[in-house]
Amino acid sequence: MLRKVSPRHALRRSPVGNRGEIKMEYVFAGVLAVIILVSLVLAIKYGFGGAEQAEIEAQRYKCDACGELFVPSGPVPDAKQSELGSLAPPPIDCEKCGAKKSAYLTTKCPKCGEYFVRETYRDPMAIFQGRAIKDVCPHCGLDLAEYRAEQIKKARQERENR
Ligand SMILES: [Zn+2]
Ligand SMILES: [Zn+2]
Repeated sequence: MLRKVSPRHALRRSPVGNRGEIKMEYVFAGVLAVIILVSLVLAIKYGFGGAEQAEIEAQRYKCDACGELFVPSGPVPDAKQSELGSLAPPPIDCEKCGAKKSAYLTTKCPKCGEYFVRETYRDPMAIFQGRAIKDVCPHCGLDLAEYRAEQIKKARQERENR
């Protein structure tokens, strides 16, 4: 990542200046604008809601009965249609083995790229019953909540450094 120069600092250095300097400042401002824009786009893409976006793109379900991973052929119910409110998308019937309501929406691990079922989707009542469960990738051990907190922290630090 390029180090950014504050536009205020650049202006303060030569409020009147000669033509050459002023032109340089325009170039600076232009470069800065591009950097800010790119940072913003990256922050939106990977920082806030980046993981969410990946989940929406994935839409793969994994069956508890047969262990198969599949992309549903038809529309699937979303979390809002769950009896438990908007906490977890309800399981659907498996398209591979036909088991009823045994396939859960998976999450693509942002670290290793494997698809896995979140514990909070499989066990949405845990939060109400005071059971501590974590959404951890079974393949690489990444803790989704920790990963998210880290991403938010990183994005905030980048904004502060600007
Ligand atoms: Zn199945
Ligand atoms: Zn993983």
